[in-house]
Amino acid sequence: MLGAPVNNQCGECTACCDAIGSSALGKPYYTRCKHVANGCSIYETRPHGCQIYRCAWHLGLLGDRTDRRPDQCGVLFQIEPEGRTCSLEIYELSAGAADSEKAKYLKQIILNNRHFQKLPLAKCYVRVYPFGSDIPVTFAIAPEYAHAAPPAEDGTIRIDSHSPSEGRFEGRTRELAFARVPTAEPG
Ligand code: SF4
Ligand code: SF4
Repeated sequence: MLGAPVNNQCGECTACCDAIGSSALGKPYYTRCKHVANGCSIYETRPHGCQIYRCAWHLGLLGDRTDRRPDQCGVLFQIEPEGRTCSLEIYELSAGAADSEKAKYLKQIILNNRHFQKLPLAKCYVRVYPFGSDIPVTFAIAPEYAHAAPPAEDGTIRIDSHSPSEGRFEGRTRELAFARVPTAEPG
């Protein structure tokens, strides 16, 4: 997508299956997909959105060092294009991870990446999602994730007054949620 070399090996990482919401699966953000099992248990038939998903590490924007992969560096970076602007979204995989010196360093590597800088973008906004952010979604939540459904409107982004292109999600946060198996109706 960006012309950068792509890292083909996600290895043991399943960070996006935890942190990122999926409309095809009806899975909210910060909720572990029920198909996570030593990788993806439905890999051959996983939804299209899963097949094409690439975090910034997978796109090669952080080089090929595996210590920069989300499961190892503690944050997942994702590029979200929108016309001539884009967001560099930073999803924490543990509380406070985005404020670490390593995360700040990796953010700058992405923003300075020559493939990224060549894009005809008017502006790139940085958006930080603290661990467990209950990010509102527009898709239907599947029953097994209903207990993790986010509030309808609680997606405020607080803009950093010192760095107006940066913002942080200020809605509710919680722990990582897991799928619940529906209990059978008493007969
Ligand atoms: S977060 Fe990135 S490296 Fe990890 S599984 Fe997803 S695409 Fe692969
Ligand atoms: S279906 Fe597979 S690839 Fe998609 S979120 Fe679930 S475990 Fe990850």
